[in-house]
Amino acid sequence: MSTFDYDLFVIGGGSGGVRSARLAASLGKRVGIAEESRYGGTCVIRGCVPKKLYVYASQFAEHFEDAAGFGWTVGERQFDWSKLVAAKDAEITRLEGLYRKGLANAGANILNTRAELVGPNSIKLLATGETVTAERILIAVGGRPSAHGSLPGHELCIYSDDAFDLKELPQSILIAGGGYIAVEFANIFHGLGVETTLIYRGKEILSRFDNDMRQGLHAAMVAKGIHILCEDIIMSVEKTDDGQRRAMTKAGETLVVDQVFLALGREPNTASLGLEAAGVVTNDRGAVLVDAYSRTNVPGIFALGDVTDRVQLTPVAIHEAVCFIETEFKGNPVSPDFDLIATAVFSQPEIGTVGLTQDQAAEKFEDLEVYRAEFRPMKATLSGRNEKTIMKLIVNAADRKVVGAHVLGHDAGEMAQILGVVLKAGCTKDDFDRTMAVHPTAAEELVTMYSPSYRIKNGERV
Ligand code: NDP
Repeated sequence: MSTFDYDLFVIGGGSGGVRSARLAASLGKRVGIAEESRYGGTCVIRGCVPKKLYVYASQFAEHFEDAAGFGWTVGERQFDWSKLVAAKDAEITRLEGLYRKGLANAGANILNTRAELVGPNSIKLLATGETVTAERILIAVGGRPSAHGSLPGHELCIYSDDAFDLKELPQSILIAGGGYIAVEFANIFHGLGVETTLIYRGKEILSRFDNDMRQGLHAAMVAKGIHILCEDIIMSVEKTDDGQRRAMTKAGETLVVDQVFLALGREPNTASLGLEAAGVVTNDRGAVLVDAYSRTNVPGIFALGDVTDRVQLTPVAIHEAVCFIETEFKGNPVSPDFDLIATAVFSQPEIGTVGLTQDQAAEKFEDLEVYRAEFRPMKATLSGRNEKTIMKLIVNAADRKVVGAHVLGHDAGEMAQILGVVLKAGCTKDDFDRTMAVHPTAAEELVTMYSPSYRIKNGERV
């Protein structure tokens, strides 16, 4: 019998922490889990889930407009922000309950407290001042929005954590950043009727995505009425006499808006966690350094999810948790596989993507075939909406393997999930070609692009 209080103590009740605790407890291990805020973590409480609900809310304006082309007359429309916030709150409370129930049913000890390391096997529970011991400790405390403290006036700005629960829907907003959060929220706020401006330091939004997706989405957002300022940054933010925010940009613009929203990346939540006391090593961003099995440099201490700054995505944290449990409690060493992670940006239209961008593929392979289709989605014919779907397959000519698949359009995220399986299985373009189309869908285009649109040889388009 172990002399420790717990076989596993998990710090952090988000996606990775809860999954680890639940799986270990269901194996009969003595598990404690501590969360200082709400169970569910960033994804459930202030990330993916409320974001997707707000995306749905923001799409209705276009649905109502599109309805006319299909014979409907839609009456007077009104949007009530406080009703949306309340409905969202009810749903995340329900989900939080499910997370807690799953833990309780598995037999984990659920603690509502901040927990900090005080030694290699010891954790202090701040709510009671008690110190508990554990044979294994898992750090799964996630991340937080970068405060961007060097920006004069950053304390007048909001972050993604605040955006869901604003007391009032602003009439105008300036969003800084060109990544997932900035782009998704720009579309949400615009859809809800907010005058929206996005400001991004680079040449084109979504720097890690394929250029066709980036340019296609940029054009679609501008066509909707979202203002996008590229190659510019906010230099300072101040409060105006009537309570608005005045932002000055490097290019000399002065923007007066109700809210300034900083979406400039996220950083690991490791401040004051007691990592030094336990001897756990972090990188210069404060992320806990781990090996392929989520082991830190201290035997018995592990870390997974956003706090390790590997890939900041919920399904990745969950996958890391499953691998951790297999390795540590089931005697079956498995390391997470980070290759070919499909992902979606819930912009409007969505981006769904897996594998290499054209530029990445061109650096890796000598001879590429690029299959590209750009078309008006069927719904837009009757609605009259001026929108485009773009699909792109990148194929390594040498072995015909599809190395990248990118979609901009309705339900692109849903398609990305299936494309993820397809690319993971190593399918070739010939496999796509011999697959029967599902008609009439947009996705059928993925299996009917028979001739390459162009080739890229040694980095040059031919
Ligand atoms: P991202 O890393 O996606 O984007 C950060 C953005 O901020 C980039 O455009 C970056 O520019 C810019 N930036 C960073 N530092 C500065 C600076 N000092 N000055 C000006 N601009 C700066 O982070 P997000 O905050 O949008 O999201 C965090 C993570 O959360 C994502 O990486 C993603 O993994 C996850 N997420 C996933 C979602 C999904 O799956 N749909 C949704 C939301 C979040 P540059 O590109 O030039 O570096």
